[in-house]
Amino acid sequence: MTRHSRRLTLLPILFIISQLPAAAQAPLAQSDPLARIRTAAAQNVGPTCSTTDASLCAEAWPKIIASALGPSPLYENLRRLTDEIGGRQTGTPAMARAITWATDAFHQAGVDSVRTEDYTIPVSWSEGATHLEVLAPMPFPVRLVSIGWAPPTPNDGITANVVDVGDGQPADFAHVGNAAKSAIVLVHSELLQTLDELFAEYMQAPGVIDRSVSAGASAILWMSSREHGLLYRHTNTSDGTLDRLPQAIVAREDAQRIARFLAAGQTLRVRLEIPNQIGGPVQQHNVVAEIRGREKPDEYVVVGAHLDSWELGTGALDNGCNAALVIETARDIVSTGIKPRRSIRFILYSGEEQGMLGSWAYVRAHRAEMDRIAGVVVIDEGIGRITGFSMGGRHDTESALRTIVKPVESWGVINDTLDAMWGTDHFDYMLEGVPTLVANQEPANYMVNYHAASDTLDKVDIRELKINTAIIGVIAFGIAETPERFGPRQSRAEIEVMLKQTGLDQQLQMVGVWKQWQNGTRGRQP
Ligand SMILES: [Zn+2]
Repeated sequence: MTRHSRRLTLLPILFIISQLPAAAQAPLAQSDPLARIRTAAAQNVGPTCSTTDASLCAEAWPKIIASALGPSPLYENLRRLTDEIGGRQTGTPAMARAITWATDAFHQAGVDSVRTEDYTIPVSWSEGATHLEVLAPMPFPVRLVSIGWAPPTPNDGITANVVDVGDGQPADFAHVGNAAKSAIVLVHSELLQTLDELFAEYMQAPGVIDRSVSAGASAILWMSSREHGLLYRHTNTSDGTLDRLPQAIVAREDAQRIARFLAAGQTLRVRLEIPNQIGGPVQQHNVVAEIRGREKPDEYVVVGAHLDSWELGTGALDNGCNAALVIETARDIVSTGIKPRRSIRFILYSGEEQGMLGSWAYVRAHRAEMDRIAGVVVIDEGIGRITGFSMGGRHDTESALRTIVKPVESWGVINDTLDAMWGTDHFDYMLEGVPTLVANQEPANYMVNYHAASDTLDKVDIRELKINTAIIGVIAFGIAETPERFGPRQSRAEIEVMLKQTGLDQQLQMVGVWKQWQNGTRGRQP
């Protein structure tokens, strides 16, 4: 993924925020570290969200910011979601409890309506007692977890040799030749540091699986891209279907030990058990809350985040904190007492981790409304400060965004990127031509804890989460309020040009999604 960025001038309020005390973990710090910035915001009645000035933004924005940065149920909501419900993988009872949590919290936020919308995921999945026993040359412990939505091994497991296929590229498979047949292949990884590297990890996997299947391998062991024994989970399919081979992520240190035995010329024989439980199609839900617009209630802005998570940790950074942020944004806007011109729908999706299944289902079910969606805002990268927005490959909405973002620009919200990305819940709206904004965020502690056992509430900096909440609230209200539409809906031809110009077409080919665009399964209909 290539991101183009441009910097705009920093405004003086950046100084105010930079003088704040260091990040506090406590929900309500006694000294109220956000008091000064809140006071400054309350006095900030300058900017408006429109060039024509006929808006209530100047009146609403300071109130939204003051509410977001003041005492709020944000932390307690997030504590209940992460500690009391915990990891909430789509299709599980915990996910159902999270839907109830969201519905209740939206009601308490005072929105005009809350409902759940059903859709069906093709396969439900849960991990069994994944286990690997090294039979030869000597036993040693290997920690591993199954890849999500990977098929189980046969009842008595797989007993086979492990073959090192390096990076899993065609030359690597050519090098090992017939040795990969019936073997368990070990695929190496680089240490994960950036979001771009994460996307690369996702994009290379389908090709490696293709080659493993062609070579007749019986299973794949992926070397963890994180150190210190950290295990994590994701899927390598993009549409919620079952994968083709049993696969597991192996602790980096253990995988390297295996690789060293093989490099020393020894035969490493193992027994691998991945007794995953597979279920049939199962109904899931998105939660949709709404503030009705005062003038154009049938036009609406979508503010969304995914509510589901993996279950090794408790899904605090990915994406519990931003699910709680979306609810708090609704509460902040309600608390102004000002109805925006258009409606705002706050949507918490399930099924994101299996291929954005919830947001894809929403877009399919609401296709007739796509012309009336003024814009879509999504946040999904933990608690790192919002630095700007990924514009969905569009230039035409950027000046409107810059006008809308004025009250919070000086907090560092200055780097919009003209890239188009895949991998979160704006994607199917973008393929329908609706203007989308995905928050670009500072890396903070997102990557190291990504999908891992360590993604827990103690990683969430509530001060930063409150600041991001204020930013999203200002933008949501601004897009809903500005007299002119934020941006037009693109035609299918325009979307296709955008996909090619941004290079997203090639990424989608690698992850198997391009054919869904081409055959009309996903995206604006021909
Ligand atoms: Zn996420």
